Amino acid sequence: MNYEAILANQLTKLKDEHNYRFFAELERHRGAFPSATCHNGPGEVAIWCSNDYLGMGQHPKVLAAMHEALDRTGAGAGGTRNISGTSHDHVLLEAELADLHGKEAALLFTSGYVSNWAALGTLCARIPGLVVLSDALNHASMIEGIRHSGASKVIWKHNDLDDLEAKLRALPANTPKMVAFESVYSMDGDIAPIAEICDLADRYGAMTYLDEVHAVGLYGPRGGGIAEREGVMDRLSVIEGTLGKAFGVMGGYIAASATLCDFVRSFASGFIFTTALPPAVAAGAAASIQHLKVSSTERAMHQARVAEVRARLDDIGLPHIDNPSHIIPVMVGDPVKCRYISDRLLDDHGIYIQPINYPTVPKGTERLRITPSPVHSQADVDGLVSALEDLWTQCQLARVPMAAQ
Ligand SMILES: *Cc1c(COP(=O)(O)O)cnc(C)c1O
Repeated sequence: MNYEAILANQLTKLKDEHNYRFFAELERHRGAFPSATCHNGPGEVAIWCSNDYLGMGQHPKVLAAMHEALDRTGAGAGGTRNISGTSHDHVLLEAELADLHGKEAALLFTSGYVSNWAALGTLCARIPGLVVLSDALNHASMIEGIRHSGASKVIWKHNDLDDLEAKLRALPANTPKMVAFESVYSMDGDIAPIAEICDLADRYGAMTYLDEVHAVGLYGPRGGGIAEREGVMDRLSVIEGTLGKAFGVMGGYIAASATLCDFVRSFASGFIFTTALPPAVAAGAAASIQHLKVSSTERAMHQARVAEVRARLDDIGLPHIDNPSHIIPVMVGDPVKCRYISDRLLDDHGIYIQPINYPTVPKGTERLRITPSPVHSQADVDGLVSALEDLWTQCQLARVPMAAQ
């Protein structure tokens, strides 16, 4: 048996389909987001596709908290949460998270992926007879968690309340149900009607599980996410989030009732059998959350920067999905051109935007997913817009008519 050949053949197929992934090898510069050195590219670049949406990963308060905790407690946690790995910093962070979402408790995981996988996997497996109603565009980590649980799953059309209601109605009244969905969807940047979904869940006696990964830190008066902004946090059974995107550090969590968190803590393999996050990481995340609870400056600047980039793209007629969030998907609609534009932006203009191709998005909807931040300068924006304008012409891509203006 030639095992290497089996692997290599599949990689060749991936390359032939233009779906092979190339990583930009970056070295971010402390305190200087969005600038970085690209070691396998042109050198100095500006990053335009980061999920460190607010630049908190370079914030002085976050860095100071991590330095302080490193000097106070050392490098790693030293164990699983159960066996010597629960540090004071973890407990403080969980209290911070419970408070952020107005819940009795919160539970930390090593990433947002693991939090979805472990929490959904455990809840859906252990609530007898549970049927999960999962939005069609849910993240891979939710899909994998539900699959792993072995619970029956019903997929409802993305953000479609009529379809969700039809599917809830079709289930027996006494069947336990959970509606699992996201607030901000990361590829199209659209937002779920959370209150209306909660109305349906209440009417049909379902639990609700909301992934707010792309919203925590960014929306709501204290950065509690879309559910905070809409005043509906108390209506959700579980709010799940990440510490790795807008909060700029690493880790994931759920916030829920004390009983639900205790349940997941007690039964979830993906929580129990893995080393806890380093205390310095927990301290950095706590500092980031504390700052964003009281400061709306970053959120306001972020939204202003996003609006500006959208307006500048409209000026030159570049097609982008008009959504109510901070994610700007510029539609190329061709995998080869999408990769080409991304390569040229990097090599000729020092602008890093990873192309998003199938299978992350459907074929024909290949795109550049642009995420402006409060720390992109006016010069960064000017450079981005003029480079995109040139490349759009070079690739003979269609523009949007200026009719609306
Ligand atoms: C990124 C992402 C996650 C995973 O969070 P990590 O902390 O990066 O593991 C979960 N859900 C959604 C919707 C995501 O986009």
